[in-house]
Amino acid sequence: MAVLLTVHAGAALAPFTFTRGGAALALLLYTLNCLGITIGYHRLLTHRSFKAKRWLAYLLVTLGSLSAQAGPATWVAIHRMHHANSDEEEDPHNASQGFWWAHMGWMLYLTPRRLDPAFTRRFARDILEDRFYRVLDRIFFPLCLLSGVLIYALGGWPWVIWAMFLRIAAVFHATWLVNSAAHMFGYRTYATADRSTNCWWVALLTFGEGWHNNHHAFPSSARHGRRWWEIDVSWLLIQGLARCGWIWDIRVPERLPHEKERAYRPR
Ligand SMILES: [Zn+2]
Ligand SMILES: [Zn+2]
Repeated sequence: MAVLLTVHAGAALAPFTFTRGGAALALLLYTLNCLGITIGYHRLLTHRSFKAKRWLAYLLVTLGSLSAQAGPATWVAIHRMHHANSDEEEDPHNASQGFWWAHMGWMLYLTPRRLDPAFTRRFARDILEDRFYRVLDRIFFPLCLLSGVLIYALGGWPWVIWAMFLRIAAVFHATWLVNSAAHMFGYRTYATADRSTNCWWVALLTFGEGWHNNHHAFPSSARHGRRWWEIDVSWLLIQGLARCGWIWDIRVPERLPHEKERAYRPR
């Protein structure tokens, strides 16, 4: 709660503290954080939709952790619980309870059970088995503070306002829109049991995560945009990294999950 208030209060000062350097750094860090969340936290760790070189996996996940949302194991546990109970009572950000609840209200009421280490162990045991992720889960917040000190050293308060507060607020809301808007606005290609939707503007803001109805239909797929106009920047990047040989065993289901999948092979 204190973090949410501080980040938003800091972001509100942005119109009075604009500098080109601060804005450019904010944009760069926004991009890196979002890609870390979508490719690292979400498609790699939560859904295991591809395999990656260890250094690349750690880099992506560290970039995601610097968005101050949660450590990797906690984030993965909450998101897996969302998939297991989408839009039902046990869903941490149940969209049936309205936009604001799904967007951010749920975080103000996180029950002790969901913050209990036993909860993370139950839903993200595989993540906790990796020492790097286990440590990052504990130190991600001091690491974010440290990055803030570095940004202050580089450009003073104007840079901190833009590249820390405003940037983190923007990444927060972009990620939260997947839980709120992409369970409410847009179209549904697949008749999934939840309310997930494909929402183009969320997809643009989040580098492909807005094709969320596709994602609920094919959770293990590394590719979320399934039609030619469903631009999925994260998928383009995953393909590029596969061509470099740093990513492999990419899962791209052609049919619904109970049917057979095929593995993507880069040309
Ligand atoms: Zn969802
Ligand atoms: Zn997911």
